[in-house]
Amino acid sequence: MTVPAARLVVMPRYVERFACTASACGSTCCAGWRIDVDRASYDRLRDAMNRSEESRAAIEPRVAPAPEPSPEPHRHALVVLREDGACTFLAGDNLCSLQQRLGEGALPDVCSSYPREVRVVRDRAEITATPSCPEVARQLLLHGDANDLVPAPVERLPRAAPRAAIDAGAPPWLASVHRVRAAMSAILGERRVSLLARLAALGCAAQETRPWFHRGALPEAPGQLERVFARYGAISTLQALERELGDIGDRADLSAGVVMSFLGDIPKSPQSALRPLLIGIAAAYAERDGVTRIDAIYQAYQARRRRWTERHAAEIDGYFTNWALHYVAKEWYVVEHDLVDFAIRLFVRVAVLRFLLLSHPGLDEADGLPDAADRVRALDAAVVDVVQRYSRDVEHDRSAIGTLDARVRARSPSIAHAMFMLNV
Ligand code: SF4
Repeated sequence: MTVPAARLVVMPRYVERFACTASACGSTCCAGWRIDVDRASYDRLRDAMNRSEESRAAIEPRVAPAPEPSPEPHRHALVVLREDGACTFLAGDNLCSLQQRLGEGALPDVCSSYPREVRVVRDRAEITATPSCPEVARQLLLHGDANDLVPAPVERLPRAAPRAAIDAGAPPWLASVHRVRAAMSAILGERRVSLLARLAALGCAAQETRPWFHRGALPEAPGQLERVFARYGAISTLQALERELGDIGDRADLSAGVVMSFLGDIPKSPQSALRPLLIGIAAAYAERDGVTRIDAIYQAYQARRRRWTERHAAEIDGYFTNWALHYVAKEWYVVEHDLVDFAIRLFVRVAVLRFLLLSHPGLDEADGLPDAADRVRALDAAVVDVVQRYSRDVEHDRSAIGTLDARVRARSPSIAHAMFMLNV
């Protein structure tokens, strides 16, 4: 699948602002992952190898055939990794020796495209980027206009094939992707009320559409979906929801179980980015608060969360508003059966990320600082760290994510239950 050059191309501002920090990057994208080489990239490398003995010696031992034949053209070969899990082309200065030797054009598509991705809806190509790259995470999380769309020159399109595409003539569930994302984003972007109220409104709207808007449904009446979302997105409705949410309390028995089971299921690979953070968080609760049992950790977390949200609600809401808008744009609801399933998936992720942020050991010292700007700097650094690690482990491992979501769904089957996640 390729992206024809004549399409309308758009990107959010965080992609427009992104520039790889290269050798200054604290977390290179060239380590800890299997690096697939697609067929066309492999052919380019082979041509380069045939040009000189020196090039052959520099490339051949570093690119191996895929261990099992794959029908997917992007899995034709693999870059050989070092023992520490890093790419064998990674030079001592943290730069790519392949790019230095042969230029950007020689890179496999996956390397030249990362962290950008493209999705195509009819005549429009959308470039996004993954916050598993820390510089993307910074640009996404720390600027209020990060998700505003701007036109993009076609040269910004990544070489890799689109992650998803919806053609003209798709059934209503798929064909509505622009409308549904616009309706959800309008609610999520109404920053005059808390993010929790906006998520609750999104959940209520999803629930109301459930009988007639789902996979396999017939087209709904013109404007029906927009009317439901507009009603829940009205400022008076959002303010009423905000008041009601203040009264539902924190059902720790419901929310803690879901968050802890999600985190407990994170794959235990030695390359995991999230595991060291989880271990650090558990150790900090034990040392600082003297608690090790999940219910006690969750109680200590609630006290910590109250302290931070009383002082920095706007910043914390801002991070997760940006993240949620990005999620709606990029993780299309169409993989679900209906919008309630999508809303539950979103709620759980926001809850997990908020737990990780406000439990982050990097906030311990900042907690007692008198200057708000110093505390915000610590929050900024912690949220970038959390989202980057989470994205690296969870969003990039589609098999793990399927298992995590199935377990969450078993524990949190209804939107009413999932609403309690909003108070994590
Ligand atoms: S992780 Fe991001 S900033 Fe770091 S080297 Fe890769 S693309 Fe560049």
